[in-house]
Amino acid sequence: MRLILLAILVVLAGLIIWSLLKPSSPPAPRGGGKGDYEPMVRCQRCGVNLPQSQASRDTDGNWRCPAHRHEND
Ligand SMILES: [Zn+2]
Repeated sequence: MRLILLAILVVLAGLIIWSLLKPSSPPAPRGGGKGDYEPMVRCQRCGVNLPQSQASRDTDGNWRCPAHRHEND
């Protein structure tokens, strides 16, 4: 019985230490590229924010919404 209690204590201590040591903040919320999260970009022309996959870049590297994708300044 003592051994079981000791084992439980060791496991609990390990969990506490592990939770203290692991980084509290999740890795880079704005990094993009994985799964359900998509970075938002801003249309240089009208200023609307839209998902990066729906935007396109002009020759200057500015983001454009679909409505302004073929417009030039
Ligand atoms: Zn636009």
